[in-house]
Amino acid sequence: MAVNKDNIRKIYELLPHINCGLCGYGNCWKFAKAVAEGNASPFGCRQNPWVGYNISEIIGLRVPVFGYQQRSYQHFTGPGLGSISSLELLKKEVEESSKRIEGILNRIDNLARNKG
Ligand code: SF4
Repeated sequence: MAVNKDNIRKIYELLPHINCGLCGYGNCWKFAKAVAEGNASPFGCRQNPWVGYNISEIIGLRVPVFGYQQRSYQHFTGPGLGSISSLELLKKEVEESSKRIEGILNRIDNLARNKG
């Protein structure tokens, strides 16, 4: 399959550019290339999996929008943390959010695998 280099660049521009390697591809550019080639889930960036929705549009992949997408995202950006009154509750909230994200990523990986 011919790789659309413009898509690699567009995907790369959406990524956080942290180059942490947690996605399993070493750096953001290699991850963008793997997604454009159809070898990685658009939601595979562990620093910001939500960018996968925008990446999916670039590569023409239709994915379901989960009803709790916005709510889960807010937990990490501030408003959702406003009601947390102790470190123990915060820890529990983060653990639950991590489990939810992991579940979403697994479901998306399954969808991507079944796509082809
Ligand atoms: S996990 Fe995200 S930020 Fe880290 S290297 Fe992969 S694409 Fe880049």
